[in-house]
Amino acid sequence: MRKTYRFTCIVCPLGCAIEVDLDDGKVVEVKGHTCPRGEEWAIQEVTDPKRIIMSVVPVEDGILPTVSVKTVEPVPKEKIPELMKFLSGLRLRAPLKIGDVVAEWDGIKIVVTRAA
Ligand code: SF4
Repeated sequence: MRKTYRFTCIVCPLGCAIEVDLDDGKVVEVKGHTCPRGEEWAIQEVTDPKRIIMSVVPVEDGILPTVSVKTVEPVPKEKIPELMKFLSGLRLRAPLKIGDVVAEWDGIKIVVTRAA
């Protein structure tokens, strides 16, 4: 059975409108992309969607009581609830600077995105 997915590409600010046609779960056509990066992103979006995850975790002795963190790599969408559970149990201690690796989950590094 053929199915069409429509996206706005988020890889760059041009925001091309991309269509991906799947037939029995297999990509048969990609239209609307202006470059190969957009085509690659759209195919991944329908076959194995991933996201960079951002969150906020408590920090002891910091300027503020929490600090923002993010994953260095995109995380498969189906694993996001598991990651969020891990992040909800994470506790950090100041001082921290932007880019410090504060944890690793499933092989994915988690860094702080502001000083604390
Ligand atoms: S398809 Fe290419 S040019 Fe278009 S938004 Fe995506 S990355 Fe940018």
